[in-house]
Formats: sequence, C-alpha cells, structure tokens
Amino acid sequence: MHNKTITELSAGLQAREYSSLELTELFLSRIRRHSKQLNCFVTVTEERALADAKVADAARSKGRAGPLTGIPLAHKDIFCTKGVKTSCGSKILDNFVAPYDATVADRCRAAGMVLLGKLNMDEFAMGSSNETSYYGPVRNPWDADSVPGGSSGGSAAAVAARLTPAATGTDTGGSIRQPASFCGITGLKPTYGRVSRYGMIAFASSLDQGGPMARTAEDAALVMQAMAGFDEKDSTSVDRSVPDYRAELNNSIDGLKIGVPKEFFEEGLNEDIAALIESAIDQYRRLGAQVKPISLPNMKLSVPAYYVVAPAECSANLSRYDGVRYGYRCEVPKDLADLYSRSRGEGFGAEVKRRILIGTYALSAGYYDTYYLKAQKVRHLISDDFKNAFEQVDVLVGPTAPSTAFGLGEKTDDPIAMYLSDIFTIGANLAGVPAISIPVGFVGDKPVGMQLIGNYFAEERLLNWAHRYQQATDWHTRMPEGFE
Ligand code: GLN
Repeated sequence: MHNKTITELSAGLQAREYSSLELTELFLSRIRRHSKQLNCFVTVTEERALADAKVADAARSKGRAGPLTGIPLAHKDIFCTKGVKTSCGSKILDNFVAPYDATVADRCRAAGMVLLGKLNMDEFAMGSSNETSYYGPVRNPWDADSVPGGSSGGSAAAVAARLTPAATGTDTGGSIRQPASFCGITGLKPTYGRVSRYGMIAFASSLDQGGPMARTAEDAALVMQAMAGFDEKDSTSVDRSVPDYRAELNNSIDGLKIGVPKEFFEEGLNEDIAALIESAIDQYRRLGAQVKPISLPNMKLSVPAYYVVAPAECSANLSRYDGVRYGYRCEVPKDLADLYSRSRGEGFGAEVKRRILIGTYALSAGYYDTYYLKAQKVRHLISDDFKNAFEQVDVLVGPTAPSTAFGLGEKTDDPIAMYLSDIFTIGANLAGVPAISIPVGFVGDKPVGMQLIGNYFAEERLLNWAHRYQQATDWHTRMPEGFE
C-alpha cells in the first residue's frame, strides 16, 4: 500500500478500503523501520499524526472530504509548525518550538493532510548534499554511500523510500529539483510569489520558494493545489487566481514547442546523463512536441551571481539569531558582545558562517557596487535570457544536475565543486520562473532527473507536460531496493 500514489490512496480512502488512521499507522511504522538508516526525519510527530488522521476520518464520515483529506505528509524542517520543533537543520534552532504555523503548513492541514513529522535538511537550506545539517547527513535510498542531494535531502529521501506519500521542500538555487533528481522523484519549484513564504524560515528572501515533492506530477499537482495562492501575510506573494492543476494534467501536448538550451549540454555534463535527456526529448517528440535548439547566453554567470546575492541576503536574514530572543544561547556570557559572538559562533555551522562572511563583505561600503550591484545586473541579464527564450518556445528542457548522486564526503572539502552542482537550476531562481524535475532513467543504479523550465506562472503547464511524459514512461514508478 505504501507504494500507492496520493491519487490511488485517496481513492482507497473514499472507497473505505482503509481509514486514514490505518494509513497513518502504516507510514509511521515504515518511518520507525527505515528512518534511522536514512536519517531523513529530525522529528516524528506520531501523536499529532494520529490525531490528524482521526480528524480526517471524522470529516470523511460526515461527507466533508477533499482529495487530500487523510493523506499523510511531512514538512521540510524549514516550515514553522505550531507546537513542534522547527530546527532548520541548525544547532541554533535546535531548541526552537514554533509558536505559529507557516502558511504552507496551515494550508496543508486545512486540506486535511496528516503531519508525519519534520524532515532533515542542510543547515538553513545552504547546501547541495544535506551534509551541512546539524543532525548529520541523510543517505540516499538508492545508494547508502551517496548523498540524497540538498538542501531538501530529507524530503527527497523520505518520498523515494516511501516513508511518506509526499513532502514539502524549498528551492533557493535548486534545493527541490536537485534532490528530486538524485532520489528519482518529482519536484516542483513554483514561480517566485506563487507559494507563501510566511513562516518559511528565510535564507535568501528574493530567491526562496516552497513547493511540493512527490512521486508523480499528478501527486505534485494535488499538493500544489493546497500550497499555492495569495497570502496577505507575505508581501511578495502574488494575488492571482490559482488554476485547477489536476484538471489541466491531461491536456494534449501536441505542438508543444520545446527549446533545448545548448549551454546545458556543454562541458561538465556526464555523457550518460546527456544520452538519457536526449531520449526523454525523443519521447516528447513522439508525443507531438517540436524541438529546437536555443541559447541562454548568460547562464554561465548564474552560479557566480547567485553566490553574491544569496549570501548577501542570508547575512541580513540570519542577523536575527542573536542568542537573545530565541534559539541557542551560549553558557555564561561575559557581556553582550560575548553573548552575540559566542551564541552565533557556537550555534552556526561552517557553511552558514562562510555565507554570512561572504555576504557581509559583499554588502560592505566600497564593495557593494563591485559585487552586489554587479550581481543584480547579471541577474537582469539572466531574466532577459529567459524572456527571449519564452518568446520562441513554451518550455526549456535539460538535465537537472550535471551528475547523479555523488558520494558522501566527496565534495565537502571543496565548496566550489559543491556549488557547481546547481549550475543548471540556479538560473530559474534568479529569474523567478517555475521549473520541475522528473525522473528520466538511471546511470548505473542511480536516478537521473530532467528539468523542465516554464514561463512565469506556468505551473499547470509544467505539471501537464510532466504528467504526459509519466503516462508514457515508468521511470517514476521505480522503487529503491530494500524499501519494498
Ligand atoms: N545548493 C544551493 C545553496 O547551497 C541552493 C540551496 C537551496 O536551494 N536552498 O545555496
């Protein structure tokens, strides 16, 4: 039963084949069995899950059930959940119990979803391998010696191992798509502003966006339906109606214009991955799509621009962790300066400190114009590249990441190599456009993801395109060994 999609589970609940309570108990027992080895949960909210399931079953018996009523879910530990520890993968928030729900958490609950727990992640979502977490690395269900990707590594591993039917993630530079690719699942990064950031702990506010991670595009559409929409508590949330994502899934893709950016196939891309992407593109041709080469000339500037903008914003956002108001505080501080510096020094990990230092430097007088302003200009050029591309085609496709899941520890001593694993994903964040990663095959035992990038607010089309591919293929149905 754990291998069923949300759509199938929802039908079973509606047919009274099982209750939400039974379903929830099943996933809780799978979590007990497998989550130690994967290290994907920071917190399991067993009591809350059972209570949520009872509420869902009661709603259903009164005829008040929607498609997500009674379906279990887990949140990346970056979303505040009232009364539940919300650590953001950091020692500095290890003792933090959120006093309120993030809008995303609130909406999932309102849709009747059952909270299984909170998922491990890179500290403050800074990382591409889940190795910067205070709670230790997550292991990839396809290969225990490999990383699951990051920063939503716990989310991707938990969904791939069938410990939860779906999870939430956040994507600042690729953190939904790259782990989805490494773990063989489907992950959608929505348009900036489509999903509320209220209560989602901020890393780089102009780039961060929450989204669904699930096994299929159809399931992602269902969860997205609950997550998306205007929120007056988030000033960057966009007041625009939310389409019925499920209703658009089966639209024909005959005549779809696919652009293949040549920059995605230049040096650094593994050949076997390139071949799998080519064959996925062929599959789209068979479904009626037209394919044309295209160029995003400024894409090579995306990683350098991102590593100025993101650290700059993080240095401002993380100044709130001062040891005074909430979170970790050092023992017996001598004075206020000592309290600040030791609380932060002891509370943050090495990668977070590196980013704060880079960001503070880039924003300092004298360097602001040279670095920050310049990076913002490059960001404009990158947005223009996408604008030009979408005047010619409907969607851009390419690999999600330049490699499959790499080994644990393989890149921890080389931050630049680690940063380059987001080379294909960061552009969409800098421009704010939506993108989805779907499984398109394997190199050896490890999954490979293909990324589809759409124009602003094209989520329903991305989900439609992904769904049509998944109806014609079965890569998304593969299950890692040992989790049957
Ligand atoms: N890997 C990128 C980083 O370390 C992106 C992280 C993310 O999307 N949250 O910043």
